[in-house]
Amino acid sequence: MLLSDLVTYKNDCISIDSTLNDAIDRMGQEGISHVIVVENDSAIGILTLKNIIEFYRNGTDGDIKAIDVASYPVLSIHNDRPVEMAIELMIDYDVRRLVLIDEKENYISTLLQSDILTYYENKVHTAQEVFQCLNRRNRAVSVHHDASILEAINLLQSENRDVLIVLENNTPVGIVTEQDVLELAYREISSSEPIARYMHFPIITVEMNEKVHDAIDMMRERGVHHLMVKGRENDMYLLSEKDLVLNYNTALEVKLESKLRDTKATYNLLGLAFCEIIDLGEQQIIKWLNAEAMMTFQVKIDDCVSKMFPDKIWQTLLLTLRTQGGVDKEKIEINDRVYEVTLIEAEVNNQPIMKLFLNDISELVRLGEELRKTMEYTIELEQEKSRLYLDVASVMFLALNKEGKVDLINPKGCQLLGITQEDAIGKDWFETFTSNEDREMTKTLFADVVSGKRDVVEYYENKVYTKEGNTRVIAWHNALLKDRNGEIIGTFSSGEDITKIRESEREIERVTHYDVLTNLPNRLLLGARLEHSMQRAKREKTKVAVLYVDIDNFKDINESYGYNVGDLVIKRIASGMRTLIRQEDTISRVGGDEFVIILEEIEEISQCERTLNQIMHLFKEPIDTSFGDLKLTASIGITIYPDDAEDGETLLKNADIALRRAKESGQNSYYFYTQEMSVQLFERVLMERELHRAVEEKEFIVYYQPQIDLKSGKVIGAEALVRWQHPSIGIVRPDMFILLAESNRLIIPIGEQVLAQACAAVKRLIEQGLFKGRISVNVSGKQFERPDVVETIHRIITESTLAPEFVELEITESVLMSDPKELGEKLIALKALGIEVAIDDFGTGYSSLSYLKSFSIDKLKIDQSFVRGIPSDEQDSAIVKAIIAMAHALGLTTIAEGIEDEIQASALKECGCQQGQGYIYARPLSEEKFEEFLKYNDISKS
Ligand code: C2E
Ligand code: CA
Ligand code: CA
Repeated sequence: MLLSDLVTYKNDCISIDSTLNDAIDRMGQEGISHVIVVENDSAIGILTLKNIIEFYRNGTDGDIKAIDVASYPVLSIHNDRPVEMAIELMIDYDVRRLVLIDEKENYISTLLQSDILTYYENKVHTAQEVFQCLNRRNRAVSVHHDASILEAINLLQSENRDVLIVLENNTPVGIVTEQDVLELAYREISSSEPIARYMHFPIITVEMNEKVHDAIDMMRERGVHHLMVKGRENDMYLLSEKDLVLNYNTALEVKLESKLRDTKATYNLLGLAFCEIIDLGEQQIIKWLNAEAMMTFQVKIDDCVSKMFPDKIWQTLLLTLRTQGGVDKEKIEINDRVYEVTLIEAEVNNQPIMKLFLNDISELVRLGEELRKTMEYTIELEQEKSRLYLDVASVMFLALNKEGKVDLINPKGCQLLGITQEDAIGKDWFETFTSNEDREMTKTLFADVVSGKRDVVEYYENKVYTKEGNTRVIAWHNALLKDRNGEIIGTFSSGEDITKIRESEREIERVTHYDVLTNLPNRLLLGARLEHSMQRAKREKTKVAVLYVDIDNFKDINESYGYNVGDLVIKRIASGMRTLIRQEDTISRVGGDEFVIILEEIEEISQCERTLNQIMHLFKEPIDTSFGDLKLTASIGITIYPDDAEDGETLLKNADIALRRAKESGQNSYYFYTQEMSVQLFERVLMERELHRAVEEKEFIVYYQPQIDLKSGKVIGAEALVRWQHPSIGIVRPDMFILLAESNRLIIPIGEQVLAQACAAVKRLIEQGLFKGRISVNVSGKQFERPDVVETIHRIITESTLAPEFVELEITESVLMSDPKELGEKLIALKALGIEVAIDDFGTGYSSLSYLKSFSIDKLKIDQSFVRGIPSDEQDSAIVKAIIAMAHALGLTTIAEGIEDEIQASALKECGCQQGQGYIYARPLSEEKFEEFLKYNDISKS
């Protein structure tokens, strides 16, 4: 399709001496937005609405010449050119009209974008939708409907638009185009009048998803050049014919305008002249050219190639192209300059074109001349220079011949390898210097490259040996060496020693993933390993055991012997445990004295039991330190994937729960995780929260269990037993919460509350004359541990105003195991205050009776487990007898607890036990009931 085929001829030219008013008249008559000023049949200027508006803005003057307002020169194109060329010209020069000329360059007519549009419309049916044609430039510029014509003109100019939307209350009510403004000028309407009076309405609006060809139909039908498109967020766009043309270009696979510009911009940056040429048989014309070509050869699109340089040269080039398929960097002289010319055939949009590249190498040639003149000197100098460069280079240079033997190595390379050049030249590089692990790989690679089997590998890293046998990591950049004929003769490489970099990378990897003390994987890496183990187990249908190992009482080691010893212990244990597990298993240090072991490929639980026993055994081995041998124990919690959980986090939590259970059950043991543990833990957490609250709210009350003199049957005291009066559960017995309270040390405030309450109650009962014995209060080991225990107890008793002589403390045997010096001092201090001390649950612990002698203790309380068995159980009877006899010998009083029947009571009496306590006399009683008991029970009165 040629341009001449699609233009609609119009009477749009005026002579050179026409006035501006003539031009405006003509536009009005013909309904066109431009006129061409013609002189001697050739177009010399174009007058568009834009020109006129600009002029009109400054006030019209009817006598002015049209040519004075016109723009020139006009952009012209021969009318026998393909349509695509016209599009490129319009895009490149950003114009909407071209002047069509004949072979004599005479004016024929004007080509409008809408003409091209018509062409495409007839040719192309497309499914394209309107929104695909929109871009930011289409965003509508609006003017308020109160604005004057002048304001509208100003806006058209400043925003460089040819159409405006008129808005009233933010609603588009009309459209104003340059054409309208022109008409106003034509009608000599004052520019201060409101624009709204002359706008077009209603506005033609299409939806975003309207088909493009429908939109075109609509435009033609209504005779408009713009459509309004409502965007998604109520933003408005105006779509012009040009946008649709561009869009059709896309449909025709001509690149989008921007894309086109991009590639052309690249050509403009090339620094060499570039032309796209189309062949019209007789002549070849420039379809497109870059800025360099334009400047150097003073040509434009649509010019003949022969305008660029003498026809003779061009014909020779064409001949070479046709006979040899192309011109490759041929040197040609044009106008005293030397060009390297490349001419190839290509295809753009199914259209055959030629691409012409002209590289101005005049300077190079001149240099070459000079170079030749001083050749010998230069070569010498160049060699000297390259040698110098090789000598001072801070990287290694290495040239190998085809056999892989060293041809050249620079001083840096020698220094790096600790060799002299003589050591290396002629040696087989791979056999002599490449590390064993990399040798085969690099050798094969090299052989393939020099034999031309594969391209040179521009970059790789490998290890080389120094003379001393150390390895260094080298990063190589490689190039092929070819001789004059292009034959490969070897390789040339630069090598950089990156050993340090790789080492520090490894170091970073180590510190982020490994524990510094033991070098074991840390928690982070453990997570990854565990994930990996689980995936593998899933694949292979095996199990994974996760062991949480914790050293018992490790805190004591740190506190007693210092952190150095602590660290040593951890290191020993870590390395010991590492020997117990297989290569594929993981051991990780996750906390101060905590380790996690992952055992893979477990098929039966017994497999991990073996490892567990080995670990327990390992701990039995004494560790020698500067403080002597240390013997340790460990507690372990185990959980199994996928039985217990299927994700790493839960598995670790489970193992931890099982570990806690092991700890609670007295350490030095291992426990497999069970579901109940989680439930218990959950309950325990709840309970703990409740307990905290109970301490705050003082929900603890005290029950009193009378203590009886076995001979006389009189009440000689009472034991204070705590009860938790829970607001919703009611009375809670101590076995439910004492253990927990001891583990979280809440027993300390609880114990203090009990002591205070008991003292107050007894004080009252004494004052009422109902009671005259001692109140026996249980004191937990946790309380007794505290250095200020005596002061605290003394303070509480004093505050209750009860005399300390009425108080007795029950401590368990475990308290006796603490530091004997400290304990002794505390007991003496209590004694000094008049407070007595009884050993509770006696016989269940390990304390030897003789040990008791060293402390000031007053009473032994025989544990109810022995009382239960007497007199029928011989062993129990024997123990009870022995305890009583021993106590006598030491001058201690004995009291038996848990007496439930008369037989037990009389048996104890017979053995010489002085006092008793138990259900047979009374259960633990509330304060009120205890008072009643004291009032109405005979024995209390005597
Ligand atoms: P315990 O000190 O050995 O207290 C004696 C326990 O035996 C009491 O249980 C009491 O009710 C029960 N008992 C008394 N006579 C008989 C009997 O004839 N037969 C049987 N089967 N049991 C009898 P309770 O009150 O449940 O206290 C349980 C444990 O809670 C106490 O054992 C003590 O270790 C601890 N406890 C109670 N109150 C306190 C307190 O205020 N502070 C501390 N630290 N521990 C307390
Ligand atoms: Ca007790
Ligand atoms: Ca007891």
